[in-house]
Amino acid sequence: MTFQKRTHDCGALRLTHSGETVTLNGWAHRIRNLGGVCFVDLRDRTGLTQAIFDPAKFSDLDEIRHECCLEVTGTVAARQPETRNPKMETGDVELQVMSYQILGPAKPIPFPVSDEDQMTTVNEELRVKYRYLDLRRPSMYRRLAIRANLISQMRKYLDAKGFVEVETPIITKSTPEGARDYLVAYRLDPGKWYALPQSPQQYKQLLMVSGVEKYYQIAKCFRDESQRADRQPEFTQLDIEMSFCSQEDVLNLAEGIIRTCMNHTIEAFGLDKEPLVEFPRLTYDESMRLYGSDKPDLRFGLPLFDLTDISANSGFGVFKNAIEVGGVVKAVRYPGGAQLSRKEISVLEEFAKEFGAKGLAVTTVVEESGEVQLSGGIAKFLSTEESQAIIKRGQVEVGDLIAFVADGESTAYNVLSRLRLEIGSRLGLRDPRKLAFAWILDFPLVEWESESGRWSPAHHPFTMPKAEDLAKLEDDPGAVRADCYDLVCNGSELASGSIRIHRADIQERIFDLLKIDRATQQERFGHILDAFSYGAPPHGGIAPGIDRLIMLLTNTENIREVIAFPKTGGGYDPMMDAPSTIDPQQWAELGLRLG
Ligand code: ASP
Repeated sequence: MTFQKRTHDCGALRLTHSGETVTLNGWAHRIRNLGGVCFVDLRDRTGLTQAIFDPAKFSDLDEIRHECCLEVTGTVAARQPETRNPKMETGDVELQVMSYQILGPAKPIPFPVSDEDQMTTVNEELRVKYRYLDLRRPSMYRRLAIRANLISQMRKYLDAKGFVEVETPIITKSTPEGARDYLVAYRLDPGKWYALPQSPQQYKQLLMVSGVEKYYQIAKCFRDESQRADRQPEFTQLDIEMSFCSQEDVLNLAEGIIRTCMNHTIEAFGLDKEPLVEFPRLTYDESMRLYGSDKPDLRFGLPLFDLTDISANSGFGVFKNAIEVGGVVKAVRYPGGAQLSRKEISVLEEFAKEFGAKGLAVTTVVEESGEVQLSGGIAKFLSTEESQAIIKRGQVEVGDLIAFVADGESTAYNVLSRLRLEIGSRLGLRDPRKLAFAWILDFPLVEWESESGRWSPAHHPFTMPKAEDLAKLEDDPGAVRADCYDLVCNGSELASGSIRIHRADIQERIFDLLKIDRATQQERFGHILDAFSYGAPPHGGIAPGIDRLIMLLTNTENIREVIAFPKTGGGYDPMMDAPSTIDPQQWAELGLRLG
């Protein structure tokens, strides 16, 4: 089969080409065989051209099936004015076919590649199984192109600042980021295992000890953890590390990259997004207090407000009792919520219960005899002073519904932060055109894990405690803050980073606190402790998640939509059928037996 290469792309032809003989290569996107004439929209990655086949000239047109691969030669002709299609870039012309050849025949396709509307109903597992067909859709190709554009901007930005891209190993030893490791059996010494890195964290720190000073990598990370809409077993980070830097330096660099590169991609692809401006900063404590979350959606206000002091002697027993046992009373306003029916309020209540609330107390804000008052719900239990204090504290307005949670602090935050998002969504305040990035600073170093009865790192174990808090490390670890920062946007965490420990003595104290005994410290982290005793420089870094950035740019809530070959639920790849069994010889070679 000789194949004739294209003279033009399918998206290229215009009126100025009229009369030219051209050859196109592409796929049969849409086929309309009207008997007397057959139209085929030919598609390549650049666009579509309508080709017209004359059945009197070609006898075997029914061999042209959807998604078969074609070579078509013909004459470019201007369309009649009434048949011009302004929706197609090439809609002023058509190709009158002189000859054609099927380069790659196609079986009946499992889903309609050309129909974006119908595709929304196609089972996702099927899409992933036939990903090579799914990716033929122009909307999917565009996501890949947006991703590539952002990554190439990031590389340009960092290269210009003197950063060096260094690849680090994939088969290595565990680098903990709080998930389970993926393990790879070692054939030469059965019983020994590699782990896939949860991030290149230790390698990038070792590169700082090596004197690289400015490192980055478009890095794959591997974490065996439960799947969610924004999680995949393997995902990509822009991993960055620098020496002799302050927290401020890392924040400025990362903000510069994200702002410049995202704005570039937004413009290059004409994405319907407002350009990114300076990122506001909040401390972790502020973020929790105001929004009940360390990844607040700042596209809208509606901060939570605390009533614990006001309600300590509340006439409403639920408040009083919760406070007596060390709990809190917090609330959020729902503008216009006074209009909600009883049924709608019970939906909100169910929502709150789903996230651990025992119930949801509500009342509404009304104006009576020229005075703003609380009415309905729990209002009847509250004294005038308490009601007025609540009105003032919450800066509520007439027509609002106020939703209260009286519980332990973490439950109150969890429920109210989700309720706030729900209210924001219902009121249309979560505008997809806005990318509300913000920095969250001064995280606690460690969190108490009641299940295991031990402290665990809030970020990872290599994070530097704040110098002024270091003395409290052993006696009051919960009060120690870290030089640690997160970048958040629209309610998701986009990046995490910290200034690192670069001294073996401090690193050992952290491992001690995490109840990793000295022998295990040596076994698991001896290399890094050792490296820190050969003149390690102060250093820090950050790692923005690329997949999540692309999700923001492309308005998708599902991480699989921005990854060429993702895994479906449970980490399964239905296209490759991975994971899969291995043959008995491989079991034997690896010295493995099924338990
Ligand atoms: N290694 C960290 C992570 O994967 C990021 C960092 O601290 O730079 O979240």
